[in-house]
Amino acid sequence: MKKISYIFSILITKMLVRLIKFSKSGAGTNLPGKIARKISPDILSYLVKQTKKEILVVTGTNGKTTTSGFIAGILENDRRKTVHNRHGANMLTGLTTAVVNESNILGELIADNCVLEIDEAYLPKAVEEFTPDIILVTNLFRDQLDRYGELNSTAKKIELAINNSSQKKIPKIILNADDPLVSALGENYPENRVYYGFNEVNFINQEENIVGSQETANCKCKSKFNYEKLFYGHIGHFYCSCGNKRPEPKISANVEINVNSSKLVINPDNNQGFEININMPGLYNAYNALSAITMALELGISINNITEGLKNYSTVFGRAEKLKLNHKEVLIQLIKNPIGATEVLRTVKDDINGVLLIIINDNYADGRDVSWLWDANFELLASYNKTVIVSGIRASDMAVRLKHAGIKAENIIIIEDISKALQKSLLNTKESEKLYILPTYTALLALQKILRSYY
Ligand SMILES: [Zn+2]
Repeated sequence: MKKISYIFSILITKMLVRLIKFSKSGAGTNLPGKIARKISPDILSYLVKQTKKEILVVTGTNGKTTTSGFIAGILENDRRKTVHNRHGANMLTGLTTAVVNESNILGELIADNCVLEIDEAYLPKAVEEFTPDIILVTNLFRDQLDRYGELNSTAKKIELAINNSSQKKIPKIILNADDPLVSALGENYPENRVYYGFNEVNFINQEENIVGSQETANCKCKSKFNYEKLFYGHIGHFYCSCGNKRPEPKISANVEINVNSSKLVINPDNNQGFEININMPGLYNAYNALSAITMALELGISINNITEGLKNYSTVFGRAEKLKLNHKEVLIQLIKNPIGATEVLRTVKDDINGVLLIIINDNYADGRDVSWLWDANFELLASYNKTVIVSGIRASDMAVRLKHAGIKAENIIIIEDISKALQKSLLNTKESEKLYILPTYTALLALQKILRSYY
């Protein structure tokens, strides 16, 4: 009987996903999963447990979608059948939609690996439904404060998930050594921790040491961390007078950050070192790549397949999405907190052919509080002498912020309607130029809906 209910849920989900796609009424990532879970509450558990090899989970504040995309790209290159919530819907309903949609109508999930990007707040619930073999944590930044409270409470949620999951099977825990909040996780299972981190970071043709708004991170002894090297935000080679310090990473790397790409040298001090280039901007994406490489090495995937997999990957769901509109190059990068936004602004500032559209919403999923705009380093644009178009529900707030950052009032255009703002931005962009679009989460969803009419 139970199997019939699974099959019924799968059929309904698949139908809904197609219907929503066909009617162009949204990405259809959450509702089908919600209904499937109403019909069979344990459908996600039932399907994910059929994974033949490892169940891989990616969590953290920033970079989840890019990191899991990198990992899926590498696994597929290794000829593993991979199930992945590639649209970035990372709460339980979105996860369910993705997994159910990949199953067949006999109630089977044919997969060597599952790569599941999971929202930090939902991780404890998720591990009640299935047991991950590896949990990878990217970083922890202040994000959507009014949704999840403070950073420490997010760290506690992840720790809780690791502990609960370990009652069934202790997962391998892949952690960012350079993030003091992340590297402290998994403290009950020190043997299972695998660290990655950068030894050296070099910015090429970019002003160095623009750290932006520094996030404060405190040691468990309550003192503020000191840094031998500070890369961005609270990420770097930290230490505390109590003796607590950055752990030595198992997978270490040096990186050269260019305007639109990065070159990573993995294990530089070791004769098995290798070099990887990624065609994505920013140090944050280099971290995403390094974490994915670490995951792949732990799975025993060959360096050749890792390199090829990373190369083939092109970002999904607007996180640094590159596309062509009206013969013009467009780069869309989600912004949702001060650190991420500052990193993107640094890239835009260094690209003299860049044209800028910023879209700010304050819907529930964006976090209702837009005061973070004041913590992002828009001052990086002070000498930017071109028009900036601002759009979205909080376009005027954004305009005020830009004026305050030193951008001339006559260079700022406010167009609240996103569709009209996009049209105007494309008109303003010459064919040799590149349009950077920086939307918040719901602005990105709205933008993607509009983009469909361009194809
Ligand atoms: Zn301390």
